[in-house]
Amino acid sequence: MTNPSSILTDSHGREHTYLRLSLTERCNLRCTYCMPAEGADLSPKEHIMKTHEIVEIAKQFVDLGVTKIRLTGGEPLVRKNVEEILRSLAALPVELSLTTNAVILDRYLPLLKELGIRYLNISLDHLDAHRFLMTTLRDDYDKVMHNILLAEADDFFTVKVNAVLIKGINDMEVVDFIRWTEDKNLHVRFIEFMPFDGNNWDMSRLVSFDEIVSAAMQHFGKENVLRIDDRPNDTSENFRIRGHKGTFAIISTVTRPFCSTCNRIRLTANGRIKNCLFSGTETDLLTPFRAGADIRPLIKNAIRSKHAVRGGMDDSAFKNPGNHHNRSMILIGG
Ligand code: SAM
Ligand code: SF4
Repeated sequence: MTNPSSILTDSHGREHTYLRLSLTERCNLRCTYCMPAEGADLSPKEHIMKTHEIVEIAKQFVDLGVTKIRLTGGEPLVRKNVEEILRSLAALPVELSLTTNAVILDRYLPLLKELGIRYLNISLDHLDAHRFLMTTLRDDYDKVMHNILLAEADDFFTVKVNAVLIKGINDMEVVDFIRWTEDKNLHVRFIEFMPFDGNNWDMSRLVSFDEIVSAAMQHFGKENVLRIDDRPNDTSENFRIRGHKGTFAIISTVTRPFCSTCNRIRLTANGRIKNCLFSGTETDLLTPFRAGADIRPLIKNAIRSKHAVRGGMDDSAFKNPGNHHNRSMILIGG
């Protein structure tokens, strides 16, 4: 049972109970909006958290009130010893979940089920093999689609499909994605394209919340696009088309930020806290942890110093690509 006084509360009163933990900077895909074309500047191997370090550091977060851990990356399933990490973290008193590109998910579904890991967020930006190849630079569409359907067919899993929308790249697939939810128990989430190092972000390339809703209404009819309940701390605004089995949602970090209810902390694969996706600063936990120091005061301070909105950038600062001096997304863990 968590001691309420230990909950990680920032200076804006937000309680941080959700850790997004990156297991690796490596990936088996090369999504152009995530990994810079010239490749990501990977940390030296000795700077990446080892298996026991991930587990011990995660325990410190749990002691401080974290109740949910989502594993991410890079691609978490390509991490060495991922099975051992999953087994150890599943033994903690948290809801453990996974964000994956699903390329090798079939190999892990039985293990995830055994460990009670039911919440899967799967990235898929296209419902077309050629376009998938253009975005990911890998010819793995069939594998990913097969694995999504494998997970969807098993009632144990709750599957969300994340699609980052970019103008001229996949905005023409919005209706296809929504149509896909007609007879599938899938939750498609459209994510507004966000700025990170090396991804050529520009406001004009983004597909906004309003544009997505309007495409849905135009195709399915305004009266059939139903707004459904969001859960507390949800980053998405949720919808269902009348009669559809699945749902769709929009994560509009850029045009409608949800910072006021943010409860997320990020820990990078090299053991640094990012208290916001867009924070320009990081707190190194791994070096002091290796030196035997108590890292809990560092965690508390990192949370306390979190800005009210998007790393301290107001709307106009945020929309200027020149203001984003950050890691690339693959090195953060979305
Ligand atoms: N490899 C896993 C995957 O793709 O699901 C986990 C890591 S990936 C960095 C986590 C999420 O970040 C994915 O859903 C991906 O689409 C999202 N993402 C990456 N770059 C992004 C960007 N520039 N804007 C918005 N979302 C982004
Ligand atoms: Fe890899 Fe996920 Fe980034 Fe694509 S979005 S390059 S799958 S980490």
